Amino acid sequence: MQSTETILSFSDLALSAPLLQAIREIGYETPSPIQAASIPPLLEGHDLVGQAQTGTGKTAAFALPILNNIDTSRREPQALVLTPTRELALQVAEAFQSYARHLPDFHILPIYGGQGMDTQLRQLRRGVHVIVGTPGRVMDHMRRHTLSLDGLTTLVLDEADEMLKMGFIDDVEWILEQSPPGRQIALFSATMPEAIRKVAKNYLRDPKEAKIENKTVTVEAISQRYWPVTGTNKLDALTRILEVEDFDAMLIFVRTKIATEELAEKLEARGYSAGALNGDMSQALREKNVERLKKKTLDIVVATDVAARGLDVDRISHVINYDIPYDTEAYIHRIGRTGRAGRTGNAILFVAPRERRMLVAIERATRHRIREMHLPTREDIAERRVEQFKELVMNTLESEELSFYREFVQHLGKEKNLAPLDIASALTFLAQKDRPLLPADRSSHSEHFDDGRDARKRADRSERPDRGGEKRERPQRDFDDSGTLYRIEVGRNDGVAPKDIVGAIANEAGIPGKSIGHIKIYDEFCTVSLPADMPLQTLKRMERIFIMGKPINITPWTGGPPPASFPRKRTYPPKRGE
Ligand code: AMP
Repeated sequence: MQSTETILSFSDLALSAPLLQAIREIGYETPSPIQAASIPPLLEGHDLVGQAQTGTGKTAAFALPILNNIDTSRREPQALVLTPTRELALQVAEAFQSYARHLPDFHILPIYGGQGMDTQLRQLRRGVHVIVGTPGRVMDHMRRHTLSLDGLTTLVLDEADEMLKMGFIDDVEWILEQSPPGRQIALFSATMPEAIRKVAKNYLRDPKEAKIENKTVTVEAISQRYWPVTGTNKLDALTRILEVEDFDAMLIFVRTKIATEELAEKLEARGYSAGALNGDMSQALREKNVERLKKKTLDIVVATDVAARGLDVDRISHVINYDIPYDTEAYIHRIGRTGRAGRTGNAILFVAPRERRMLVAIERATRHRIREMHLPTREDIAERRVEQFKELVMNTLESEELSFYREFVQHLGKEKNLAPLDIASALTFLAQKDRPLLPADRSSHSEHFDDGRDARKRADRSERPDRGGEKRERPQRDFDDSGTLYRIEVGRNDGVAPKDIVGAIANEAGIPGKSIGHIKIYDEFCTVSLPADMPLQTLKRMERIFIMGKPINITPWTGGPPPASFPRKRTYPPKRGE
């Protein structure tokens, strides 16, 4: 196995310039361990057995070498990726497409059962370079001679153990037998049951091995929890956690450099003092942010693994794994940034349904069960805000000279004939206007948990140093909402966030982000406003977009005004389930 230590950046791998540019734009900082171990042998043409599960970056591990070697002038399938499910086929196709953004005329086709044969046939006839499909449907096409593998140079078995479990192994072997003898084979599997080993032995030639090592350690001083990502999007979930967790300083891990900036910016917009830490920043700027974290002028740092290497700040009470790490070693390293200097630390891990295996691997490696946590409810947040407000009132009464204000309230009461209780109620409302003691109801399915924003300050820290010049402006939108409303078939249940939609539409359809109007996320779908004068060609391009692994199937919104919620009468204390 190639040593992962020796590879520090993507440019150390012999990948073509258009691929390196795409990786830069997507924001990957360094190859993940499975990528570092798989890409070189695959580029050299070796067969490969890769032991890795979802979440390790295995898709890029085979997609990048395939794309590197594709001859786009040859309009025939040169690579075939077999996946156990339709969802994975779509996800893999989407990943290929994003890595191939600078390869003009590159075509990939996902084929799977349940989708009409006609569309697939049309696309196949037009000529595609890579096929990603489930074994059954691929076999159907081969039998009908609508898919020929004569020009195939690479075949990938993705999640081979899952294909075995689902009873596809005979189909897989049949396809392997029909493929040209000289093709390269890469087999990826999370586990290596005997049947998969046999396939490797029978069909692969002198394969190289790439394996993610899971070393075990004990982590005693850290309380570990995980939140299964469902329904609520990750940013909303994080915002709620931030409201109720008693944290001193927090380190949040994401996968890309771009995500460090984006998330830090969003948290700043919500009133937290947050900064990014990534490998693209100058050493001086990185050091400055670490220094600010130590000096308590920064409470949250959003970092990539590389940038946080060796970070040693005692006051980090919480580590949030916003994006799951690639391997258990990275997890152990991440959570080791808390629980230092004899303090207890807290680690929270966001786990999407497809990342469950990594959770199990982490539990094994750390020899700890990780407790499932529930997101704070609206009532929990209300309770917390009320407590903080009470404390603020008490502290103010204790520490401030208020005689002028007492006189003012007295005078106001007399002049307007008001009871002190009414005045106090109005002032409480005003003081908490941007951070209501009873947060907004989420049943409206609006984008954010509430819209208390810039003015929000944590009650226990009323003073913040002026960060004036450093605060970034929020991007302005050109859009005046005179656009057309569209519906796209991906929603909250898929874990989509507005940035995913803006990113996909901007990148894939070439519509500038600032022209994309209001996005509303519902459980099953989203609505998005787009310029009214959009050319037909652009709309056509949009039909091919995948978000969160799903085709968006964009259609003009025909359902009248999108559903809204109605204000409800509020009582204090808030009632459960209100
Ligand atoms: P996979 O294991 O292929 O399903 O990938 C899991 C996630 O990791 C995907 O969202 C990828 O975009 C992301 N990813 C893959 N490689 C890298 C990398 N080198 N740096 C950052 N993120 C990555």
